[in-house]
Amino acid sequence: MLRHRLNPPKDLFPVDPWSIETTQFTGEYVQQAETVFALANGYLSLRGSHEEDHPIGEPGTYLNGFHELRPIVYGETAYGFPEVGQTMLNCPDGKIVKLYADDEPFDVANAEMSRYSRRLDMRRGTLERDIVWSMPNGKQIQIRSTRFVSLANRHLVAMQFEITPLDGDVNLTIWSRLVNRQAMPEASRDPRKGAALDAGTLVPMGRWTDDCRSVFSFGTMRSKLMLGCGMDHTIESEDPFTLSAQAGDEFASVEIKVQARAGEPVRICKFLAYHYSDARPPEEMRAQTAWTLDKAVERGFAALLAEHEQAVADFWERSDVVIDGAPEAQQVVRWNLFQLMQASACVDGTGIGARGLTGQAYEGHYFWDTEIYVLPFLIYTNPRVARGILKHRYDMLDRARGRARELGHRGALFPWRTINGEEASAYYAASTAQYHINADIMYAMRKYVDATGDTGFLLRYGAEMLVETARLWADLGFYSEERNGQFCIDGVTGPDEYTAIVNNNYFTNLMAQENLRFAVETVQALQVDNPKLHAALVRKTGLAEKECAEWQKAADAMYLPHDKRRSIHPQDDSFLQKEVWDFANTPADKYPLLLHYHPLNLYRHQVIKQADTILALFLLGHRFDLGEKKRNFDYYDPLTTHDSSLSVCVQSAVASEIGYADKALEYFYFAAGMDLSDVGGNVHHGAHIASIGGSWMALVYGFGGLHDSDGEIRFRPRPPQKWRGLRFRLRIGDAVLEVQTGADGTLYILREGDAVRFHHEDVETTLTAADPEVRFPATARAEAFV
Ligand code: BGC
Repeated sequence: MLRHRLNPPKDLFPVDPWSIETTQFTGEYVQQAETVFALANGYLSLRGSHEEDHPIGEPGTYLNGFHELRPIVYGETAYGFPEVGQTMLNCPDGKIVKLYADDEPFDVANAEMSRYSRRLDMRRGTLERDIVWSMPNGKQIQIRSTRFVSLANRHLVAMQFEITPLDGDVNLTIWSRLVNRQAMPEASRDPRKGAALDAGTLVPMGRWTDDCRSVFSFGTMRSKLMLGCGMDHTIESEDPFTLSAQAGDEFASVEIKVQARAGEPVRICKFLAYHYSDARPPEEMRAQTAWTLDKAVERGFAALLAEHEQAVADFWERSDVVIDGAPEAQQVVRWNLFQLMQASACVDGTGIGARGLTGQAYEGHYFWDTEIYVLPFLIYTNPRVARGILKHRYDMLDRARGRARELGHRGALFPWRTINGEEASAYYAASTAQYHINADIMYAMRKYVDATGDTGFLLRYGAEMLVETARLWADLGFYSEERNGQFCIDGVTGPDEYTAIVNNNYFTNLMAQENLRFAVETVQALQVDNPKLHAALVRKTGLAEKECAEWQKAADAMYLPHDKRRSIHPQDDSFLQKEVWDFANTPADKYPLLLHYHPLNLYRHQVIKQADTILALFLLGHRFDLGEKKRNFDYYDPLTTHDSSLSVCVQSAVASEIGYADKALEYFYFAAGMDLSDVGGNVHHGAHIASIGGSWMALVYGFGGLHDSDGEIRFRPRPPQKWRGLRFRLRIGDAVLEVQTGADGTLYILREGDAVRFHHEDVETTLTAADPEVRFPATARAEAFV
């Protein structure tokens, strides 16, 4: 079923554990490289386009959460369909710096170059380019640039250009620009891409230009957001230079002219600042932008870079996963981890988009991808950011209450996809019907509380979300006479979007049951331990005395489909009765099926887009024994197309556990290489952040053998035999635990904190600062258990 298993193209990316480098310019790779070389800090991003602005694919500059509203147009509408969509905007592009030497424009697409290197340095968090251009008049000049999107100041980008004539004086003109160009993706038949917006989405609201600096404010018409953006420059040259600036409502340019002597570098630093707000007026946004630029110019490129590098080093210290004995895997894994950093590091008050900030596919929307695929990584490596993301869900609770009311439900229904908290998806069968989003968010919150011990969050915000989500389930389901009075949930869609609007999706029912139980436990504990907060919760939510009992009853009576004959869990009530998809006669070029078959055709077959029942086995592992996991895996794996990138990572983790070591590794490579190998053929529209987070899960939960779904930390390491070892760190409460596992056993080291308790296989272990290490010999492989 693995249709395109490409390895990352080595001619483009020579193997190096800390960098991704291309040493030749390839025209057809321009757009993919914009994603692979994108730089971001979770708030602000620049796609990896060339400074000359040519050749260009989607030269995006994005701010997380900065969006415009647009009407959703239906051919035929119905009650409750969302009418207003949201689209992340492309902000004014400030990374443009064009070079003219002796009147010849430099353009990578057709320049004669005796050296070409573009290198993403993942240890420093920089994108570097080093080129030697043989000009048409025979002279050679070296053009070097370095850029970064600061992790130390999330509003700031810094770029440095160094131009050095190598063998003769050269007349240089450097044209640096900031342009509001609004390039949006074209309208497309591929549902994964974004909707096109009309041009003119950002309305100029004033500017200020002086010398090398230009500062703008722009407003959005419908979402009423205000953007401040600007650029400033510093120039170092031994040779005299002249400066001039031009600006209009939607652009600013600075021209720098130098008669550069051979061997004398001309160095230009360009600083970009971006801020946005839903409350502040244009003049304030311009002022804020100018202050960021003031500070940047005062500190200078080198100091800013040092601060940024320190923040990146801190990230690696917390989050690196070291693979010993497989340098190619190491490189790919580092790029994946780097993307997780870029998607999350400075997130504050927003979620994480399905493509992070690397592209406009899925319009910058937040999905369940964040909670189920990315939050585990953040919970164990950067809990502060994980908390912020959960708090952002809390901040949209009122809108979720409104959406539930609109659909005739009690409680709250979180949006399937959104930026501002409103449901923004048009095709209800594969969106609104995915009620499991409620349980997914609560599942992630439980993991967060279990791993961090932050019960304060649970009491202050979580309890209210639990009350409203439990209410939704209690209202949505019913006690079915047909099923001996069991609690059934009809008319929903599970994670598998090739099967829609079904009764009793196993994943949904199981996750809803957990959600209900978590709500009961939390409310009851609050009542006993903190009557004051409990009273506040009752006041705020109108919680009635009997509700907890109702939730408990629904959870206990939850119908969890089981098929006796096959001894597996049917994906839903009807799934096993359907005809199996004719995989043998489906040519490779018909995948992903969603682009070639009408949904009805998919819905009436046993064909799966992404892990669904298998995901339940993974997320709630403690509720299944190994035999059950194996039987379900054996049944569902061959039916799964992995047409969604959210699939193979999960299948890899479960395959590890049940002893399918080769399959686990094969799926892991598929997941981890999703973007660098362009498995889905759409990396040019952005990186697949869920698959990237899922690759971390495949490493840590799968090969590292972490099990935490019952609130206890257990390890049953199953490192791939082809690797010498695997090393990672997890923050658990106040402790940092390092796990080193390989063929000869597993070493646990307490790196920070006073103590940590966990199980290795079935041995309970506590490490303390006084006794911080323990080693266990390797155990027999998992087959022995099945
Ligand atoms: C998947 C969803 C996912 C969305 C965004 C879809 O193709 O089926 O599960 O949330 O992509 O990544």
